[in-house]
Formats: sequence, structure tokens, C-alpha cells
Amino acid sequence: MAEIRLSGVSKRWGSFIGVDKFDLTIPDREFLVLLGPSGCGKTTTMRMIAGLEDPTEGEILIDGKVVNDLEPKDRDVAMVFQSYALYPNMNVYENIRFPLRVRGSDPATHKEKVMRASAMVELDDFLHRKPAELSGGQRQRVALARAIVREPNVFLMDEPLSNLDAKLRVSTRAQIKNLSHELAVTTIYVTHDQIEAMTLADRVVVMEKGVVQQVGSPTEIYDRPANTFVASFIGNPAMNLMKGEVAGGTFRAPHTEIAGLSIGDGPVTLGFRAEDAEVAGEGGQITAPIYTLELLGDATMVSVRIGGALVSAKADKSFRAEIGDMVSIRIPAQICHLFDAETGARIG
Ligand code: ATP
Repeated sequence: MAEIRLSGVSKRWGSFIGVDKFDLTIPDREFLVLLGPSGCGKTTTMRMIAGLEDPTEGEILIDGKVVNDLEPKDRDVAMVFQSYALYPNMNVYENIRFPLRVRGSDPATHKEKVMRASAMVELDDFLHRKPAELSGGQRQRVALARAIVREPNVFLMDEPLSNLDAKLRVSTRAQIKNLSHELAVTTIYVTHDQIEAMTLADRVVVMEKGVVQQVGSPTEIYDRPANTFVASFIGNPAMNLMKGEVAGGTFRAPHTEIAGLSIGDGPVTLGFRAEDAEVAGEGGQITAPIYTLELLGDATMVSVRIGGALVSAKADKSFRAEIGDMVSIRIPAQICHLFDAETGARIG
């Protein structure tokens, strides 16, 4: 059992703020993903939980006990990094067994524990190989098994898939998801890849510049982004965002008129997702010449330019047109997200 609580946790180096007042309770067994662009403070947050970095302010609690002054080895957390840090002279078996030896646990139990962990990551047939004789994916699985064998209360994973090729990443991702479920351990996972975040997480924390932007389930974050940063970070392609003016419930921007919005008059940023819009023959809310067409296999992405920004909508894969042809995009009011024109905060 491990509930983790961060209470007003900040990390500063001089005047630079790496993490700013992080507050969150992570219930036992939750799979929490820290997501954000490079430098947003994900790794620093995780290193503070692991005990590898001291917070400048705030408290970190594991199961209700403040652990700020506990050494990493006394926190009962196991970390998996993007660099696997395997011992090159030890075979897979010995690499996986290593944490058990360091801890001085009963050697009679080692074999069973190593065999169980290696079976979980499907490495049973590779136990005699050295790391140099393994693929990147297999090495990453050794690192995972080495964390599993410790039977920690908390798993901390920092971009564990980033050194793997695209195909291996998908299969290892599925394996991690399955493992965390099977082991029922609280897991905190750092990534800048929103697909990884969406597929793995019970909850996602979106960060930017050291500040938490939103915490929610993948669906909440996708369906109701708290601000324009989250809206443009989650989803592929990013949410379309247009600046314009609302008057009498109608949003207006160049080539664009969307009626039926329940919002007061004034400037707003309006967003909608390409997959929620429809490409129509005519009568849509945006009518503009096609700027690009991209064939995606299962659909065609149609983009137009509105006030210097690209605005995209997903059309059927049978959609046929040329660049420069006029296209009409249907954007009913109910698919629109509205954000404050100045702060970017969600307003509807
Ligand atoms: P990435 O995805 O690139 O690993 P991240 O979100 O994990 O990024 P962090 O490693 O947490 O980012 O770094 C957050 C910010 O703190 C960065 O701007 C980084 O340059 C800064 N930073 C990290 N360690 C130190 C340090 N020891 N001294 C000063 N600044 C640091």
C-alpha cells in the first residue's frame, strides 16, 4: 500500500523555478503520468519523490509519513530510467538479481523471485546472455524486471520507452500497462509523449514551466482541456485554436462564423478538434480555400489558413479535392471549446 502526497512542493535553483508549488495526492495503486514538454519539471518532480533531489519547499508524504529526510533506499521506491544502466559483465539473471543481493535478502528466495520477474517481462530464454547480446527492448525489459524483483510499493519510470523504436515502444508500453495492473503498485511515469500518457494513465498531470496545468483522467483532459496550453498539447493533430470576437452568441474570425454560443460578447479563443468537425460541400461555418491535404489512410486531413494559423478538419478517406479549391467546414457550436483571449483559461 502506498499513497503519495505532494504538499506545496517546489524546487528552485537560485531564482530559477524548476517546479512550482506542486500539490497532489496519488492514491494507492494509481498509474499517474507526468506529461509535458522538455524542461517542464517532470523529472525534477520524480527525482524529489525518489529522494534524489531535495525540495526547496514543501513536503512529500508516503503513506502519511513525511519522507523529505529519508534516503532514497529507505523510501521503498524502484526507478526505471530511459538509460537502462545494466552491468555489462553480469548476465541477465545476475542483473535482475542484483537489487536482492544489495539488500541482503535471503539468497534461498532469489531464484524464484528472479524467475518470476523475468517471466513477467518474457525474458526467461535470455537469462544467460550479457546486456551486449540483447536488443534495446530486451535491455529495457531487464531494467523493468530489476525493478519488479524489488517488490517496491512505488514504481517511478522516467521515459522508459524513449530509446526503443516505434514498434517496440508500442509492445513494451502494453507490457508496462499490463505489469502495473498485475503488480497493483502505485506508478508514476514521466513522458513528453501524449499518446503514451493517454494509453497508460489512470490520471495525467500536464505540466508547463514547472507549473501543473491540469490533472485529470485522459478523457477529461482530452474532452475538457483546462486551458489553451493543454488543448494544444493533447490530441493529434493539436486542437484548432482561433482568435476572434463574439457578439450576440456568434463567433466571428476571417472566413468564419459560428452561431449559437452561450457566452458574453468580447474577444475569445475558440477551439475545436479536427475529428469533431465535418468537411461539407457547403453551408459550413468556415469557408476558405484548401491550404493542404494530407492522406492519413483512414481519413484525409484538410487544412485551411485562418488569420495566419492552420485550421484542420478530418474528411472521409474518399474526399477528393485540390489545393486552392474552396472547402466548407461544419463546426456546430456544441463541439467548440472557448478560452479566455488573454489568459487562455477555459471559459466554456
Ligand atoms: P525533459 O523531458 O527534457 O527531461 P523535464 O520536464 O523532465 O524535461 P526537468 O529535468 O525536470 O525537466 O528540468 C526542469 C527545469 O529545471 C529545466 O529547465 C532544467 O534546465 C532545470 N534544471 C534541472 N536540473 C537543474 C539543476 N541542477 N540546476 C539548475 N537547473 C536545473
